[in-house]
Amino acid sequence: MQTYTTPKDLTFTHVGDEPHIRKDGQQTTLRVWHAPCAHTGCQKPVVAKTTVGADPSKAGNFGRVHCDEHKLSKEAATAKWAAACKASNTKATEAVISEILQLRADGLSPSEIALFVSLSASRIYALLAKHSKP
Ligand SMILES: [Zn+2]
Repeated sequence: MQTYTTPKDLTFTHVGDEPHIRKDGQQTTLRVWHAPCAHTGCQKPVVAKTTVGADPSKAGNFGRVHCDEHKLSKEAATAKWAAACKASNTKATEAVISEILQLRADGLSPSEIALFVSLSASRIYALLAKHSKP
């Protein structure tokens, strides 16, 4: 069975394919990959999907280390964001920055993180560049 080990040393296994309709209406096939959730004792897989024939190392879909249940929920992120806003009027508080770093560690892209923290993707990108360790 085909596997792919990410730079974070998480091994995804190809578990099957599924039909997929692209945004332009074209029928295509997605490769479905599973890896164990990083949450201790969790039995649910981290699911990643790539287009058939795509090089997994270039797909950029394997950044997550938690299953849907254990990744930070949007509600939790929004609540944290609201609390951070109350605590301070500055746009990017320490709490928000740590939030962003956590979401980034979970493999979300700046544009996905923007959905959680009410900052623009470019602002998040700049914050990540400033705060992430080399
Ligand atoms: Zn989990």
